[in-house]
Amino acid sequence: MSEQVNHVTIMDVPFTNLTQKELLDQHIYNRLHRLEKTFIVTANPEIVMMAKENNRFHSLINRADYIIPDGTGIVMASKVIRNPIKERVPGFDLMTHLIGYAEDQDLSCFFLGAKQEVLDKMIDRIKDLHPYLKIAGVHHGYFDLEDREIAESVKKTKPDLVFVALGSPAQEKWIMKYYEEFNKGLFMGVGGSFDVIAGEVKRAPAIWIKFHLEWLYRLIKQPFRWKRILKVFEFMFRIIIRKH
Ligand code: UDP
Repeated sequence: MSEQVNHVTIMDVPFTNLTQKELLDQHIYNRLHRLEKTFIVTANPEIVMMAKENNRFHSLINRADYIIPDGTGIVMASKVIRNPIKERVPGFDLMTHLIGYAEDQDLSCFFLGAKQEVLDKMIDRIKDLHPYLKIAGVHHGYFDLEDREIAESVKKTKPDLVFVALGSPAQEKWIMKYYEEFNKGLFMGVGGSFDVIAGEVKRAPAIWIKFHLEWLYRLIKQPFRWKRILKVFEFMFRIIIRKH
């Protein structure tokens, strides 16, 4: 965990309390230029609950340099405990900013994860949006996490940024399993973001986001997620109980 950063701890998970702009301008861009390795976890209430229920996952995410508050539930919880986080930093927005920055600064990106057809569509879209982006490599996400070959092939390309879209906890496990073997690189788990760029999954319209209802939109579009949404309610319930 980065020492100089102010944190807000929610259910034993220390969240980086910076705006997206502060995080990028004061930390991430400098680290990329110094070739300093960086591990970013974007955490929502489901991830906090996962960490609560699984000690190994908890210690794994605690090794991140930055745990970013990705989820309205986290920001709401910070207000309930009277230690408000400055703003929500959606992992998706952070990733798209970083891709744009990589294109400007001639840094290379590796994209690991999602189904092959989703990945192909996503890469086409990325090439349209960022014609000068150096794509170090791509690989779909349906492989055995223990398969060293994948990590070796990523390593060979010496990427500056590695976006890992395997869903949690697999993406964080994969990153930490091989992190020490890399000499440089920013590593970030990005969940279903490749599916969003590929146009397979729509992000909630702005009005839903504005009224903090992105979770409800996802539930309507992907009802099989109901168990995960229940975790969000359990999270809020626990926050309120702890406060009292
Ligand atoms: N995925 C993968 N390999 C797997 C399981 C999932 O690459 O073994 C991908 C999946 O195709 C999707 C992403 O991981 O692109 C996870 O998406 P999900 O919406 O579950 O993640 P969230 O955004 O909720 O963390």
